[in-house]
Amino acid sequence: MSNASPQRSPLSSGNKGDANYPEILAEIASRTRSWQGPIVVAAHVDPDGDALGSSLALMRALRQLGKNVVVVMEPPPYLEFLVEEGELVGELAELQPHTLVFALDSGEADRVWGVPLDQAAAVYNIDHHGTNTRFGELAVVEPGKAACAMLIKELIDILAVRWDSRLATPCLTGILTDTGNFRHSNTSREALEMAGVLIDHGVDYSRLTDRLQWRDRGYFPLLGSVMRTVRYDLNDLLVTAYLTEEMREELGAKEDDSDDFVGLIRYAEGTKVAGLLKERGENVKVSVRTRDGVSAQRICVELGGGGHVSAAGATLEGPMEDARARFIAAVERELRRHGDL
Ligand code: 5GP
Ligand code: MN
Repeated sequence: MSNASPQRSPLSSGNKGDANYPEILAEIASRTRSWQGPIVVAAHVDPDGDALGSSLALMRALRQLGKNVVVVMEPPPYLEFLVEEGELVGELAELQPHTLVFALDSGEADRVWGVPLDQAAAVYNIDHHGTNTRFGELAVVEPGKAACAMLIKELIDILAVRWDSRLATPCLTGILTDTGNFRHSNTSREALEMAGVLIDHGVDYSRLTDRLQWRDRGYFPLLGSVMRTVRYDLNDLLVTAYLTEEMREELGAKEDDSDDFVGLIRYAEGTKVAGLLKERGENVKVSVRTRDGVSAQRICVELGGGGHVSAAGATLEGPMEDARARFIAAVERELRRHGDL
């Protein structure tokens, strides 16, 4: 970002998505095609299926074009089956001169993991978080897309790289994981149709959906102990559960093992907000899911985080009970604003 200001560039998309975003994608494609230096693909901290899937698909497409490109990421173990030898590198302290960085699925520059963005010759920001600050030389921000991987699918089409299962599988992974296997409110006709096209490109669909649910042995006992913490508040419209470091240590489990627990408690009957609170040192990370127009995004932005309308997150100061009280107060304000209390 040598001469870049953090402000949006003239080419970046408008606040609520932009009908012209394909033009910006085309500009990204054309500048990338002629880019001579190294390329690094990065995504948000705590990578999920969309972060990894978008990054792998883009990297593999760019390698087909002969580019020198790596993904900077440490994915959770349950996603490692998607990765091939030589595709990922760990955190980079320095960038080589004239490096282009793709920042994927990341709403803010400081959520991009593992890359010193200030050393980049250019940063292209491709994302679907409504709270995206439009950092970088070129930014495509489309909150209407269920997954960042949908924008990567379009970018790969523009790059005119030949589709195969090695591109289509990570792309479909991003769509599957961000829509909760086509159950969440972001599921659109476009997402479903794109999935069909990706399956035509050779994805082994049942193997992929099966494999994405595999969890290691630490997961199941941890699930048991976290589910015993489930509580209801605010007229039973809010369900919460928590995970402390002590609980993890007792079971010898990793934090990654708790990745989708909020996706389970969100189905507590009659609730509109679900929050999973995880202790991380002095802090508490909260993952929030909502339904019926209650905004997880408003709740989390108020707490210093961000995300989507129905899925968002924030990091609070601990200890757990204080963080939980502040979280409940923020949920209460949002439920009142929305007319539920
Ligand atoms: P999760 O709860 O699964 O960590 O995150 C849900 C969504 O909110 C994801 O799209 C994630 O990128 C976003 N998100 C989670 N935590 C934060 C945060 O602290 N800041 C911002 N800006 N977004 C977050
Ligand atoms: Mn995403």
